[in-house]
Amino acid sequence: MAVKRDYYEILGVDRDASEEDIKRAFRRAAQKHHPDVDTSTGAEERFKELNEAYRVLSDRQRRAAYDMFGHAGVDGASAGGEPFGGGFGPFGDIFDAFFGGSPAGGRRRQRAVAGADLRYDLTITLAEAVSGVSREIHFPALVQCGTCNGNGAEPGSEPERCPECNGTGERRRVSQTILGQMVNITACPRCNGEGRIVSTPCHTCKGDGRIREERRLEVSIPPGIESGQRIALEGQGEAGPRGGPNGDLYVLVTVREDADLVRRGTELYVEVPVTFAQAALGASVSVRTVEGSEEVAIPAGTQSGHEIRLRGRGMPRLRGSGRGDLHVIATVVVPAKLSKRERELLRELGEVSGPAVLPKSGPSLGDRLRDLFS
Ligand code: ZN
Repeated sequence: MAVKRDYYEILGVDRDASEEDIKRAFRRAAQKHHPDVDTSTGAEERFKELNEAYRVLSDRQRRAAYDMFGHAGVDGASAGGEPFGGGFGPFGDIFDAFFGGSPAGGRRRQRAVAGADLRYDLTITLAEAVSGVSREIHFPALVQCGTCNGNGAEPGSEPERCPECNGTGERRRVSQTILGQMVNITACPRCNGEGRIVSTPCHTCKGDGRIREERRLEVSIPPGIESGQRIALEGQGEAGPRGGPNGDLYVLVTVREDADLVRRGTELYVEVPVTFAQAALGASVSVRTVEGSEEVAIPAGTQSGHEIRLRGRGMPRLRGSGRGDLHVIATVVVPAKLSKRERELLRELGEVSGPAVLPKSGPSLGDRLRDLFS
């Protein structure tokens, strides 16, 4: 995939620019870089780039996809097939920007049946959810037939108007009822409502306009994604029959649970066992993090359940900046078995220690009970 410039950079606007700002910036740049005006080398490329940037950023949905997934979130839209029904030539954009609408109505009657939406289940690790990851996925799907370019007719022939419905795709039945005349409209059974029929079917796709193929697609998973979230790739689903629009592809992401780290949104929790001696005297212990492990200082006098927060070591915020925290929970472990020497030392310690006193800081009994039962 070629390296593309950032759309915001191309238009020279901030990432939080309003729709008005974007329109204004595009208008200014389009006047400056229009190939009729700008005769320097690469002007046409720049103008195309400008149009592409505007096409994405002026559309609320596509802009959101771009903000979340970068070019990968909107590439399908500009490259693959005709998911948006075409009609987005550079002039369409200019008309949109200057006059707030398409030139001449542009609306065409769409009887074509759309392709199916597809769902792809993708499992990633917690570490991949932190960094974000790009994955190539493979899946079988119906794609446009190359022999007939999707219209289903053998090369050299054309789809014809359906004689049954005269190209309307509808069958009208008029019946007399006690309430008067009733017109019942159903899809024409001859052409399935498409209005056209293929009398010489394409030999490759048998007239369907599609063939089954193994598709490959690069999917960008943004940092901070959570299990159950899905990435919508518009127009990357199956092709519709006989030139119908593409369906969409939904990548449903599962983030595999980690054996040690527990995730709650942007926060991560890990339990670290410490001995009584380490808790009382303070120590440096190795703590599992999402990146590997890290030495963490346990202060002298640490109570069981004490939390040490490693700022910015949790999960990234989806579509935001920065990361949550890693909460390291110290658990003082009382040994179940003691050696002779340990027993001697502990007995001696017991003799010189005063009675136990509950720590002043930390959660109260009430708080702990509430946690226990919540
Ligand atoms: Zn074909």
